[in-house]
Amino acid sequence: MPLVNTGDLLRDALAGGYAVGGFEPYTIDQIQAIIEVAEEERTPVILQFWSEVIETWGFPTLTCVARELAGRVSVPVALHLDHSLTEELAYQALESGFTSVMYDGSKLPLEENIARTRAVVARAKEFGATVEAELGLIGFLSDYATPEEALEAIKGMLTTPEQADFFVRATGIDILAPAIGSIHGCPLPMAELDIPRIRAISQVTGLPLALHGGSGVGEEQLRAAIGAGIAKVNVDAEVRSVYISALKAEVAAVGSGEKVYVDLARYPRGVRTATKEAVRKRMRMLRNTG
Ligand SMILES: [Zn+2]
Repeated sequence: MPLVNTGDLLRDALAGGYAVGGFEPYTIDQIQAIIEVAEEERTPVILQFWSEVIETWGFPTLTCVARELAGRVSVPVALHLDHSLTEELAYQALESGFTSVMYDGSKLPLEENIARTRAVVARAKEFGATVEAELGLIGFLSDYATPEEALEAIKGMLTTPEQADFFVRATGIDILAPAIGSIHGCPLPMAELDIPRIRAISQVTGLPLALHGGSGVGEEQLRAAIGAGIAKVNVDAEVRSVYISALKAEVAAVGSGEKVYVDLARYPRGVRTATKEAVRKRMRMLRNTG
């Protein structure tokens, strides 16, 4: 089917008590793997790209592949721009046919973040698209010496329900990514989410909430978070590390036995199979398959 509006997808998820995965492809075979699993599992999915990936492939290739493959399956697929630090990139995504954009002004002073987010919201409306924004600071694991240090530090940067209420009213966003105890770039499930905080933010804003750093959240925590109002779960690090391991294994096998070179025609098959299973494992945790 044609690409769907991300906001519609997530409002349905919130009402239905499930979440939709925001998967982050870096390569064309990853786009293919994610859409194939979504169809096999009968689940909606969000394909999301961040600026470096767009820089590598360009909007025409990414939107062309995503739209074409989405058009061949019967499950809804949304196309999302992740963490845009500039309005310009967000506008380019909207013009290219993305069905939602995340404007990330979380490092700006609040007043400036609000003003810029409002402008992106107004532009997105012209395209019938929706806007996600981050409030509080979710942070990156790689910015800290140890995972323990990171998880301790982010406890001091969590979003309060009052801040969320104010920000949502001031900006008119459709999807909120609050800081709730997860962190970017963590491939192992070690985050401790603040579930009562998620519930309070959900109740006060009424919006679908996005969980960033989903790879670092275990299944039990994930289910509790979805029950409290999380409707979008971003998954990047976990699938990425599986993909890289499979790729390394292909390359490492060269020189042993009959493999004398990397078979460029066939290696993506094994890598894609491994990627698909990592995607499937996460999708099944979101309570929306079938
Ligand atoms: Zn993020």
